[in-house]
Amino acid sequence: MAWIAPVNEMLTDPPGRAVILPCGGCAAKGSYTYGGETYACPDCQGRGQALWRACPACGDVAFDKRGQMYVCAAGCGYRWGEDHPAWLAQHWPGEAKPNAA
Ligand SMILES: [Zn+2]
Ligand SMILES: [Zn+2]
Repeated sequence: MAWIAPVNEMLTDPPGRAVILPCGGCAAKGSYTYGGETYACPDCQGRGQALWRACPACGDVAFDKRGQMYVCAAGCGYRWGEDHPAWLAQHWPGEAKPNAA
């Protein structure tokens, strides 16, 4: 049995259900050194953290995109579109929303 959260219980303030994790590209340092030069990490724009967008219902980051819809196939089975308010909320607080993954 999958439990589907009603929309009004979903998180619609940034970052919503998005998961913030240490960046794997730079080992959470935000930069890397190459040839004696230090560069901001392109994966996280120097934050040292990466934001993973997640299923608006259950927070599972392992969703699929099928056509215009996203499907939480391995998780709760929820389906949502790019205009879902709890999906649009998944970005860094204070910044414009990123392009859809
Ligand atoms: Zn990084
Ligand atoms: Zn889900």
